[in-house]
Amino acid sequence: MVDRLSTSQRSALMSSIRSTNTRPEMAIRRLLHRLGYRFRIHAAGLPGRPDIVFSPRRKCIFVHGCFWHQHRGCANATVPRTRPEYWSSKLLRNTERDASNEGALRNLGWEVFVLWECELKNPDLELRLDHFLGKPRIKRTPPKR
Ligand SMILES: [Zn+2]
Repeated sequence: MVDRLSTSQRSALMSSIRSTNTRPEMAIRRLLHRLGYRFRIHAAGLPGRPDIVFSPRRKCIFVHGCFWHQHRGCANATVPRTRPEYWSSKLLRNTERDASNEGALRNLGWEVFVLWECELKNPDLELRLDHFLGKPRIKRTPPKR
């Protein structure tokens, strides 16, 4: 596959992707609100500044872009054809930083949930969030006769 973007186009695209309140992150925040969860965002003072933090539960969520954080096996996690060495080492640093942040959080007693951008539309997302956050969804079963 050929990289169709010029260097400047690509860098513009990359910087638009890499903002603090990314669209996938906003989507997941809206969903969590709808499900009734309360949380803080970008908690300073925690390793890696997790995107979404549930302090009383000591649980946090990272919403990772598949490219920047190199979602393993994901079609969105390809290395650009232009300047491959640059990108390889940059992306490797990202994944190493992610691993070390997650390890540090777990050592501090936090549970970490990594949500990949490509998973946001999965139908089981709400269930996975409920499962992680420990609030099983109440199923309304019809009364038995
Ligand atoms: Zn992915």
